[in-house]
Amino acid sequence: MALAYIGLGSNLEDPLAQVTRAFAELADLPTTALLARSSIYTSRAVGPAQPDYTNAVTLLDTQLAPIALLDALQAIEQAHQRVRIQHWGPRTLDLDLLLYGDQTIAVERLTVPHPYLSQRSFVLYPLAEITPNLHLPDGTPLAELLSRCPADGLTRLPSPA
Ligand code: ATP
Ligand code: CA
Ligand code: CA
Repeated sequence: MALAYIGLGSNLEDPLAQVTRAFAELADLPTTALLARSSIYTSRAVGPAQPDYTNAVTLLDTQLAPIALLDALQAIEQAHQRVRIQHWGPRTLDLDLLLYGDQTIAVERLTVPHPYLSQRSFVLYPLAEITPNLHLPDGTPLAELLSRCPADGLTRLPSPA
């Protein structure tokens, strides 16, 4: 079993519903348990002008190998009718494999830790909610990355009652 953190993002077609449905779909993956999920956040888009994003992070305990997990994440994106028109353009659902245990992976389809993890407030703040004492595979404490990443444009939505 491995602990894997997944970053979720959506800014089209009822983003809150997209992310909520994705939580259930991640929990339903074979040989996988959803151990934790962050609050839901909104963030300002990076890249081309487009609506704000709805974001969250989940922690999975999975027996899926990294590429099998990536395949499963991409199948969920497809089920959400994701269309790739523009690099970093708007999307119904984006699922990024942020961390997979303490593994460092660099193959054509998969880079882990996710290459932009340390620069993205919408990833770092939800990660800290789930695992405040997290360290990257190279030993960097999450707290150090957070101290260098302002939460500009990031809003944590109140959890439902
Ligand atoms: P970014 O990588 O900056 O978050 P993006 O999420 O918009 O951009 P996508 O179009 O969703 O990028 O993915 C492009 C490709 O990135 C995918 O086809 C996938 O093979 C590859 N990829 C590499 N590393 C990862 C990872 N850690 N998680 C998800 N996809 C990855
Ligand atoms: Ca992404
Ligand atoms: Ca992606």
